[in-house]
Amino acid sequence: MKILVPVKRVVDYNVKIRVKADGSGVELANVKMSMNPFDEISVEEALRLKEGGEASEVIVVSIGPAKAEETLRTALAMGADRAILVETEDHVEPLAVAKILKAIVDSEQPGLILVGKQAIDDDSNQTGQMLAALLGSSQATFASALELSNGKARVVREVDGGLQTIDIKLPAVVTTDLRLNEPRYASLPNIMKAKKKPLDKKSPADFGVNTAARLKVLKTEEPSGRKAGIKVKSVTELVEKLKTEASVL
Ligand code: AMP
Repeated sequence: MKILVPVKRVVDYNVKIRVKADGSGVELANVKMSMNPFDEISVEEALRLKEGGEASEVIVVSIGPAKAEETLRTALAMGADRAILVETEDHVEPLAVAKILKAIVDSEQPGLILVGKQAIDDDSNQTGQMLAALLGSSQATFASALELSNGKARVVREVDGGLQTIDIKLPAVVTTDLRLNEPRYASLPNIMKAKKKPLDKKSPADFGVNTAARLKVLKTEEPSGRKAGIKVKSVTELVEKLKTEASVL
């Protein structure tokens, strides 16, 4: 069974985000970019399933600029077998990503697609759900544990009330949450080896998908600065301030 893992190139989670001077978006020039953290978790999970004999091949795919090849090489260095880069300079929205992924799923026929729960740049949390809808396949979102057996997946989901365990039929889309695993680091020899692993280059047009934006960004603004906090001496004082100053009680 193949496992397909989409990986997105995003601003590194350690970077302090700055808004462009003209308010047209987030500053990306000279900013460190990395693999979306949830996608690292997906790659790790796919590799563990392969190492446990549940999968035969791990394919990673990224839709983005030529530099997304670096993100794919990182996934290959972690242990993925091959990569597909769908190259575009457009800011691709979740629906277009899901349509491209659907076309890849149709040709590759993976048994499992491990999508990140959300990309930390747009925080959409849409792609996995849209992909499952387009495929008409089972889906389990926000997985914190995953087990495969007999063409089924048992997924523990992180939900508002705690944890929920569900069984779904493969092929399925599973979106990964933070507690699923701790991704490995790529070793230097594996980084060298990854340079020679197969990487296929495609364009959205190869899949008949138009990636032009459907949404228009009107303005991007920094959040207003937070006011300094104060220390209170007692619970009574806290309750009093919440009532009279913050008016929240
Ligand atoms: P989102 O719905 O944008 O929050 O993204 C959720 C997940 O969809 C990400 O964690 C990735 O697994 C996948 N994804 C979104 N955009 C891309 C992209 N451009 N290339 C590859 N995977 C993507």
